[in-house]
Amino acid sequence: MISSRAKEINPSATLKITAEIKKLKKEGRKVINFAGGEPDFDTPSKIKESAKKAIDSGFTKYTPVAGISELREKICQKIKEWYSLDYKPEQIVVSNGAKHAIFNSLYVLLDPGDEVLIFSPYWVSYPEMVKLCSGKPVIVDFKETDEFHPDLDLIKSKITKKTKCIILNSPCNPTGVVWRKEELVMLAEVAVEHNIFIISDEIYSRLIYDSQHFSIAGLGKEIQARTITINGVSKTYSMTGWRIGWSCSPSEIAREIAKIQGQITSNACSISQMAALSALSLEKYEIEKMRETFKNRRDILIAGLKKLGLNFITPQGAFYLFLKVSNLGYTSFDFAKKFLTQKLVGVIPGKPFGNDEYVRISYAISQEEIEEGLKRLGEFISG
Ligand code: PMP
Ligand code: GLU
Repeated sequence: MISSRAKEINPSATLKITAEIKKLKKEGRKVINFAGGEPDFDTPSKIKESAKKAIDSGFTKYTPVAGISELREKICQKIKEWYSLDYKPEQIVVSNGAKHAIFNSLYVLLDPGDEVLIFSPYWVSYPEMVKLCSGKPVIVDFKETDEFHPDLDLIKSKITKKTKCIILNSPCNPTGVVWRKEELVMLAEVAVEHNIFIISDEIYSRLIYDSQHFSIAGLGKEIQARTITINGVSKTYSMTGWRIGWSCSPSEIAREIAKIQGQITSNACSISQMAALSALSLEKYEIEKMRETFKNRRDILIAGLKKLGLNFITPQGAFYLFLKVSNLGYTSFDFAKKFLTQKLVGVIPGKPFGNDEYVRISYAISQEEIEEGLKRLGEFISG
């Protein structure tokens, strides 16, 4: 009864494991949740007020499929301010989260059998989305010795006549790696030379610590013409449940994305669009507080792991850290399972991110919980 396409798709490991841990917590178990992929802060109250106002004023009907013009204009203004990117409102499509925006982009770009380069470690949903769009994920394994920074020769060696698109994710989930400008310049040259599209997932671009974010589309007209830039409010404004993300693309692609979305989900929630508009109008200091809190938590986690003598990739962005467990004698699933059952600490195994030697730790939890998690980790590894 079930289609072979549906059967071929894996469930989202991040969502599945996080749901299991949340359930344990609800049952009253004292679980430390190093697994969650969302900020723990409440959505700022100004944003909530705008949503209430939208409901009370009856802003509860269909909007244009690609989003209300005020929001699309605001997105253009913000990405110009943040990354010097020039886009017009007709190039923006507002979707139900960045996830939906990425799926729409792949759906519009891929013909059956088209190859998509995905850099490993990668976010769990990319290969599955490519398969859903009848494409073929081609994994490019970045090296641990390069701290999972790009290897341009390896990327070039994976390009074939069928390569249609590359998914770029900086800052990266799960490693927290931020691409350097010169690495982006080299990737842009390769993409232009081989006429390959880039889907640049920049959902964590406002959560940067001791590095700087560059948008690949800002590196010149030729690469901007081949790039779909993805962003949204989920992470920066602690709005994961509101489901607002967007794509910025060349006009002809944006029209296709809106056409497809118009047949599947129509517009993103009208109330959430008003909330997103309010989020993008917040003063800088209001979001800076959250970023600084993440930075402090990251520093505490790094210091604790160093004290325990563990190996990990130092994250420069997002709110994840990739911890090596193979040298402790575990596969990633073994480690995650035993750590949860023995010490009630949840982490996500690296395997669904393309690397079975590591686990992902999220530091989107309080300082006290991080400290308790580190204490339990110390006890766990000392047996
Ligand atoms: N891209 C990456 C790398 C992510 O980690 C996530 C996690 N949610 C998303 C996209 C999707 O974001 P959203 O919640 O806006 O759909
Ligand atoms: N992106 C987050 C994570 O990687 C949230 C879960 C999801 O959407 O996959 O954990």
